Amino acid sequence: MLVMKFGGSSVRSSARIRHVLDLVVKAHKRDRNLVVVFSAYQGVTDQLIATSKLAAAGDKKYLVGLRSLRKRHLDTLAELVPLRQRRSSEAFVRDRLADLTDVLHGVFYTKELTTRMLDYIMSFGEILSTFTITEALKARRIPCAFVDSRTLIKADDTFGNGKVKYDLTELTIRSYFRKHRGIQMVCGFIASTTDNDTVTLGRGGSDFSASIFGAALRARDIEIWTDVDGVMTADPRKVPAAFSIDRMTYEEAMEMSHFGAKVIHPPTMQPALDHQIPIRIKNTFSPEFPGTVIGTRDPSAKFPIKGISSIDDISLLRIQGSGMVGTAGLGRRIFGALAARQINVLMVTQASSEYSLCLAVLPQAAQSAKQAIEEDLRHEIRDRQIDEVLVENSLSVVAIVGENMRKTTGISARLFQALGKNGINVVAIAQGSSELNISTIVARTDEAKALNVLHDAFFLSGTKTLNVFLIGTGLIGATLLRKIARHRQTLLRNRSLEVRVQAVANSKAMVFDSSAMLPQHWQEKLTRDGTPMNAGEFILRMKASNLPNSVFVDCTASQALVPHYVDILGSSISIVTPNKKANAGPRALYELLHQSALKHNVHFLYETNVGAGLPIINTINDLVAGGDRILRIDGVLSGTLSYLFNSYVEGGRFSDIVRDAQKRGYTEPDPRDDLNGLDVGRKLLILAREAGYPLEFRNIRVKPLLPRSVLNARTLPEFFVKLRSVDAPYARTRRSAARDGKVLRYVASFADGKGEVSLRRVGPDHPSYNLSGSDILIALTTENCRDHPIVIRGPGAGADVTATGVFADIIRISHHQS
Ligand code: ADP
Ligand code: ASP
Ligand code: MG
Repeated sequence: MLVMKFGGSSVRSSARIRHVLDLVVKAHKRDRNLVVVFSAYQGVTDQLIATSKLAAAGDKKYLVGLRSLRKRHLDTLAELVPLRQRRSSEAFVRDRLADLTDVLHGVFYTKELTTRMLDYIMSFGEILSTFTITEALKARRIPCAFVDSRTLIKADDTFGNGKVKYDLTELTIRSYFRKHRGIQMVCGFIASTTDNDTVTLGRGGSDFSASIFGAALRARDIEIWTDVDGVMTADPRKVPAAFSIDRMTYEEAMEMSHFGAKVIHPPTMQPALDHQIPIRIKNTFSPEFPGTVIGTRDPSAKFPIKGISSIDDISLLRIQGSGMVGTAGLGRRIFGALAARQINVLMVTQASSEYSLCLAVLPQAAQSAKQAIEEDLRHEIRDRQIDEVLVENSLSVVAIVGENMRKTTGISARLFQALGKNGINVVAIAQGSSELNISTIVARTDEAKALNVLHDAFFLSGTKTLNVFLIGTGLIGATLLRKIARHRQTLLRNRSLEVRVQAVANSKAMVFDSSAMLPQHWQEKLTRDGTPMNAGEFILRMKASNLPNSVFVDCTASQALVPHYVDILGSSISIVTPNKKANAGPRALYELLHQSALKHNVHFLYETNVGAGLPIINTINDLVAGGDRILRIDGVLSGTLSYLFNSYVEGGRFSDIVRDAQKRGYTEPDPRDDLNGLDVGRKLLILAREAGYPLEFRNIRVKPLLPRSVLNARTLPEFFVKLRSVDAPYARTRRSAARDGKVLRYVASFADGKGEVSLRRVGPDHPSYNLSGSDILIALTTENCRDHPIVIRGPGAGADVTATGVFADIIRISHHQS
């Protein structure tokens, strides 16, 4: 039995829901007994609350909220459920929306909104989302059932935060599951009282629902699917350098979530802990990533603490006075008074002199907490033994959490040193007696800074950061972003290297966003937050960011950005690019770029200019740097042309092979861009320059593969017609070569200061004779390797290998930076 839970972020839109359903279907293939718990669509619960409050305040604007909720639910249903099945499902959705409308109208007319009514109103979010998603799964012909969890989870009537009646709940859940098969699709967050009133389990409570089901059914795992790579060392929205924690204990997870890590709802851990069921936190948008396992033990702890979390807005109550000293029972009275008003105390500290006691509570509870305490202590206050309760607002709790703290000395020293050195004043501090956490209270304005400096101090000492600014989101750029998103965590963990993408742009839009989410969600962010693309402005903003170790990545195929390169390098920003335009341009520019990089102590790297991810340029550089001299360069430098000639065997027609390769996307959209040989010429020029020969493009003789009349055809169809004219002469050449035991290859060679690119007949003594597929090959004859050239061979084209090469160049920059 497996329990999966998908949060609001995972079911925000119909596209995301489709993706979630793919994951459910995949899990179902492995585990036939599947319970899937859903939250409301992202933002719906907030909107239900806001709409109810407007109605209760007699504000007609509640109708606007209601309308948008109706529209969103009906639209999502229409997008997910095919017409033939829609009628019955739409009736259900419309009925629920009508119920919701009735109750909101009621709130508007009576101007009354009890916590009980609000719970009922909130329940529509989960009912509607889960029902719709279930219908969408049924449309895929997967056996499944919609489960209104109010019939199974029983709780008391603490509306807004129901306390679960575990024994009763377990009985009802188990008896339901004895009778039902297929995937059970369960609404999270909601339960019912013994009077059958709807009660919710606290904001974010769908996680808790999943755990309740998991425990009752003794599931093998409880998977919480969300929008981040598991529980992270800190909230990634506040600490861009946060990375995911691979293992943690239930207690650690409880502490982290108690102190604000929203990724998991605090009570979730208890039912799982009772039955020792592991909770896995997984990323819906990166399902292969292992995420975080919450379990009993963590033998592998690498850092002295597990994570840092914060509650961003709290109030502090200070109770002090001479009468506090030695007065037994004071604590009990104070906490009793607060408990009577159901006020939750987040943190307590007491000076050892017993002269003062500090309590942290949520701001909305502060006044009522002050009243409760003052009422209870009214005699002491009247007799001036105790002062009036002081309330300080606009504060945050920042807590460090981890079981390892118990065994490690010097943790608080490191904490205070980091805060102190950065000018952050600590208003109060508390250490849990279990030594699982140390919490500090700081001004709210210092919260983000405190989180970041503590994160650096505990996790990142010795970590290097690269700040990437990327233009170009075509095939290579998009693949690169995906790779960065996927490998970021591993780099951080294994190499202490943080690759932070600061900005992404394409020809239409640009977005600057330093959150760790950019590489994963760049498309959405460009659409939502992007501004129209303007290269000049992009570069100005990049320079103004003034970040250390900045890298500009040009993943465009055009010349447009090349004129900015010198300025970028001059601003101490490195450049990485697969784009050949700069290096194959005039020699003076090539030299200027290299000199600028050197002068400003930055890097200009372009390994992927030739042979995609193969280590060609670096090999030449290393040989030259080591004192060797490149005498000859021979090779087949184009994967496309390699493919054409490797496939051109007996019986085939050359024009058919070109046409077929174009159809499969192996050539440029217009194959003449490959067949004119210019691109190979540029590559050879770059290699020769790297080898130390100061050439211009005119020094490379490029013999195109086709006669000018064919290359100059006015349209693509005309070109294909004309191309047939070369079939016969090509066939003759191939046949005569074959008679001599040779094959045709489009070979680039450089020797004696001269370069040539041409179709040649090569025999078994030539390194390219045995080439196959779209492999490319390069042979370097050097002074030290005169008789046996160094040969590099492999896939020399494709978005994946090229993006890997670009990524490797980016990482290479970190080797040289501090
Ligand atoms: P869901 O909709 O899946 O329930 P939530 O928004 O409730 O998702 O929780 C996930 C969010 O929790 C993340 O997007 C992240 O911003 C926030 N978060 C806060 N602290 C942490 C942390 N330590 N680790 C991971 N995420 C955190
Ligand atoms: N939809 C509920 C909320 O927003 C429950 C959840 O998301 O877990 O609080
Ligand atoms: Mg949540």
